[in-house]
Amino acid sequence: MNGLMMQQPLLISSLLIHAERHHGEQEIVSRRVEGDIHRYTFADLAARSRRMANALVSLGVKPSDRVGTLAWNGHRHMELYYAVSGSGAVLHTLNPRLHADQVVWIADHAEDQVLFFDLSFLPLVEAIAPRVKTIRHFVAMTDRAHMPAQSSIPALLCYEDLIADASDTFAWPEFDENTASSLCYTSGTTGNPKGVLYSHRSTLLHTFAAALPDALNCAASDVILPVVPMFHVNAWGLPYVACMVGAKLVYPGPALDGKSLHELFESEGVTLSAGVPTVWQGLLAHVESNDLKFSTMRRTIIGGSACPPAMMRTFQERHGVAVLHAWGMTELSPIGTVCSFKPAQRALSEHGRYAVQAKQGRAVFGIDMKIVGEDGHELPWDGQSSGDLYVRGPWVVGHYFRMADKSPLVVTGNKGWFPTGDVATIDPLGTMQITDRSKDVIKSGGEWIGSIDLENVAMAHPQVAMAACIAVAHPKWDERPLLVVVKKPDQTLTREELLAFYDGKIARWWTPDDVVFVDAIPLGATGKMLKNKLREQFKEHRLPTA
Ligand code: AMP
Repeated sequence: MNGLMMQQPLLISSLLIHAERHHGEQEIVSRRVEGDIHRYTFADLAARSRRMANALVSLGVKPSDRVGTLAWNGHRHMELYYAVSGSGAVLHTLNPRLHADQVVWIADHAEDQVLFFDLSFLPLVEAIAPRVKTIRHFVAMTDRAHMPAQSSIPALLCYEDLIADASDTFAWPEFDENTASSLCYTSGTTGNPKGVLYSHRSTLLHTFAAALPDALNCAASDVILPVVPMFHVNAWGLPYVACMVGAKLVYPGPALDGKSLHELFESEGVTLSAGVPTVWQGLLAHVESNDLKFSTMRRTIIGGSACPPAMMRTFQERHGVAVLHAWGMTELSPIGTVCSFKPAQRALSEHGRYAVQAKQGRAVFGIDMKIVGEDGHELPWDGQSSGDLYVRGPWVVGHYFRMADKSPLVVTGNKGWFPTGDVATIDPLGTMQITDRSKDVIKSGGEWIGSIDLENVAMAHPQVAMAACIAVAHPKWDERPLLVVVKKPDQTLTREELLAFYDGKIARWWTPDDVVFVDAIPLGATGKMLKNKLREQFKEHRLPTA
């Protein structure tokens, strides 16, 4: 027997419709690439998103077409979040920090049809425009007055012209809630970047869960400033959460330095923010050295990399800002666990509470997790046993986009679970702690660096016999790449020569921080380099940049 409740698909457009109807007066404030502060309301957002939806139709965008963005956090990017997904197309947020070659590869793989970009990325777009295969229209996200006087991009379109020329009447279509809504590629895996294709249903369910009190705890009384980029897993879902709960949004645009962020926190009365540890370092340094305060900020979500305990102490003890340590992944939309206290944990001594907060937290409803030992069997939740972390749930990736190899779900004995590539313990209260990583990647300032790509460049050098790239701890960036190299016999290659060899072959910030030459790299039985042995060997290696 079926229930007798109304059938309404869970669609992203419903968030916008709700926000306009029930929170139409609520503000969205953006620091723009043009340099000014822009403010308008959810009602304005809804009207302009409808205009953009009409403009997309006039550009020939059809349901399921991928529409790319290369953009900072701002109101126009948010309009695209709703206009593109709401009309049944797929919003593809590209990461502008990647090398142009990777951006081309990803845009081609996704078969993007249109590319919207902030003016900051004009040089990048000019570099990729002649190379991308499927993009038919390029749109600069600005007004006529700020359009580039000249550009090599053919028939460059202007965002505000598109909006001005379109009607603000648009009926958001109804379709199956499992329809694809947005696409985000992650380099946090080996091999080429992989696309995670979210659906309307997965996004809505994630939004409900994210807003819960023991998750991000968002309400209409909040003023939310997502520092985490909208090209990083949808700014951790906050542009959707804000519409669901009616919270004011403040977007920092390209200005992510401590001074600019602090000014916005204070002038807009921000109560909640979110970002990776590296961003907070800059902010805290600015606040501390200028003897400033956070007068309205109550809590901040820190994730993407482990939050250093000293940072938690500074936020909580000196500034009265509670830290919510969270763990997630692009493949998890992204929220998996959030570290909010259970009563027994809150009652602990200060030392005990900090020990809990150093962990990544409890699974939010919707995410199930387990840790698995080398024999493939589940390990106990005793806070000691450490194993591969697996998750499953309605906002966890099933398969990567357009990959013949449907690997995430084909894992012996663990079918139906996604292997995260993280290694963790879980304690008896269900609090998970990341202890290591089994995947072969490096995370620097919240962004991935592909160790294999770096090894491939080194291996292309005529004097290199073998190269391994590993992550080494760094005080600012959390991790930075160290290259371990075996030279061919009788070669004179130097550290500087090898580092210079990287010029132009990768994004500059991917260049290894240091090179060490060794006689041999430890190999396993199958000839694979034993990176965990190397990581152990160079655990104490001090990078020149540290
Ligand atoms: P991404 O897909 O770029 O969001 O990266 C996800 C990965 O970042 C995870 O699999 C972890 O390796 C790492 N990560 C995310 N949050 C945390 C955290 N709070 N502590 C430690 N590592 C984290």
